[in-house]
Amino acid sequence: MKWIMRKCVKCNRYTLRQDICPKCGGELIVPHPPRFSPEDKYVELRLKMKIESNILNTNEKPFYCV
Ligand SMILES: [Zn+2]
Repeated sequence: MKWIMRKCVKCNRYTLRQDICPKCGGELIVPHPPRFSPEDKYVELRLKMKIESNILNTNEKPFYCV
C-alpha cells in the first residue's frame, strides 16, 4: 500500500495533498516513512532456516547427530 498522507512542517496539519499545505502553504513531509521492521527480518530469517532445514531433511547423510 502506498502512503499518500502528508504532514505540514509548519502547522503539523495532515493532508492528502502532495505539494503544499492547503492551510498555510508550508512544505509537506511524509509523516511515517516506510521502513523495514525487525519482525520482517525475523520472517526472512525463519524462511531461510526453513529452507535450509528442508535441504538437510532431504539429505540422506546429515553431517550432524543429536
Ligand atoms: Zn501548514
